[in-house]
Amino acid sequence: MKQISHFINGATTAPSKRTGPVYNPALGEQVAEVSLASVDEVADAIEAAKAAFVDWSETTPLNRSRILFRFKMLLEERLDELAEVISAEHGKVFEDARGEVVRGMEVVEFACGIPHLLKGEITEQVGRGVDAWSVNQPLGVVAGISPFNFPAMVPMWMWPVAIACGNTFIMKPSEKDPSAPLLVAEWLKEAGLPDGVFNVVNGDKEAVDVLLTHPSIQAVSFVGSTPIAEYIYSTASANGKRVQALGGAKNHLVVMPDADINGAVSALTGAAYGSAGERCMAISVAVAVGDIADELVDKLAEKARTLKIGNGAEKGLDMGPLVTREHLAKVTGYVDAGVKEGATLVVDGRGHTVAGHESGYFIGGCLFDHVTPEMTIYQEEIFGPVLCVVRVPDYVSAVKLINAHEYGNGTSIYTRSGGAARQFTRDIQVGMVGVNVPIPVPMAFHAFGGWKRSLFGSNHMHGMEGVRFYTRRKAVTARWPEGDMGADFVMPTLE
Ligand code: NAD
Repeated sequence: MKQISHFINGATTAPSKRTGPVYNPALGEQVAEVSLASVDEVADAIEAAKAAFVDWSETTPLNRSRILFRFKMLLEERLDELAEVISAEHGKVFEDARGEVVRGMEVVEFACGIPHLLKGEITEQVGRGVDAWSVNQPLGVVAGISPFNFPAMVPMWMWPVAIACGNTFIMKPSEKDPSAPLLVAEWLKEAGLPDGVFNVVNGDKEAVDVLLTHPSIQAVSFVGSTPIAEYIYSTASANGKRVQALGGAKNHLVVMPDADINGAVSALTGAAYGSAGERCMAISVAVAVGDIADELVDKLAEKARTLKIGNGAEKGLDMGPLVTREHLAKVTGYVDAGVKEGATLVVDGRGHTVAGHESGYFIGGCLFDHVTPEMTIYQEEIFGPVLCVVRVPDYVSAVKLINAHEYGNGTSIYTRSGGAARQFTRDIQVGMVGVNVPIPVPMAFHAFGGWKRSLFGSNHMHGMEGVRFYTRRKAVTARWPEGDMGADFVMPTLE
């Protein structure tokens, strides 16, 4: 069986004593064993990162940027190779995996501008003969913990900005699809990154708990489900660390009566069923306003019934399998619950099979109509290809519905009215908002993050928010007096 271990201090380590299975979800077969790091193995990685910080934090921002630039060139050349690795362990279709890598590469491109982004501020003559300036200095060793659904992109929301700022990094990927960050670690080394600056530790709660409590870890970036995000935030904060913990989502797309209905249907189909709904920005609720609902549901049903589903490694498909057998059972359980609670199951994807892949973790697109806010399928994140239609009478009810939900990651409105769209972007209690854009994932030079129980902590990821998160500010006040200026017993006011 193929062994997937750790990458510490510039080298692949021997496998750990404890391991977990890695599957090919399209085949439903175990393809590798991933090492689950012990407390000592994580401590080794932290020591390596601590030692590397001494020189890396002294390396000029321009030289750090040049290494990232060389990595970006390698990544561009090897995009397909990384996409194949992602598709094989995650199950998403190859083109979608490629898209994920490109969106991650964007953050590397952003981080290449670090000499400019790190610049501080200076005020000459804040007092007579006194100057003041602020600089942004790295924190030290920082850690990232990522979910299974974007094994390359989500780590790239974190580490490029962190190491560009002069920190050293420990990445703890999802144990379900751990290979992408290991390939990245090798390519970073090839690009000239010194050993110990970027380390990958695979594992589960045992490894994570070391990162949350070890005194040498200065900051923790997390992306995953809300219960774990909350645990990460409270534990790491209690241990004195800076934390950004992004959690789950339930994203609504509002279809106003004046929307271009065919455009809205296409957008909803891609956003609900792309990556089999395993995206934190997937649209899982369509809010049909006024009398548009019947036509919307009919057209959505037609699309859901004709999705091209199969092994993500094959070209030209819409959707692959879910990530594990357990996740398939969980998503199927939600569909069962929706039927039991009285929603109308217009398209039933349960029990979907793909010829030649009978053991794969497949489910077809599911569409519910007449979903109400009391139902489990409305309240909870399903994280599968299940779209719920909620009917509301007007715009005000749509906004009220969305604002009352515990999650606030992404949302979108489809309308031809500029006034309604503008009002929506102001009224809505959600971190990322689209206008006639179904999945409004911000570009790397903006920042990614939700509101409410979709994010714990105050900083969003990447963009200038990332630079702020991974640096601390130092304010310097300086003068060069001629001789003794005498003792000052009152609060200095620098006049
Ligand atoms: P998850 O919370 O199960 O796992 C995320 C990470 O936490 C993994 O590395 C895992 O090993 C670790 N982990 C799991 N249980 C733990 C525990 N008890 N203690 C310590 N660490 C633990 O999430 P997942 O299933 O891998 O990913 C899907 C979730 O991630 C969804 O809820 C999705 O919405 C969310 N997500 C959110 C965003 C966002 O930007 N808000 C982006 C992507 C995914």
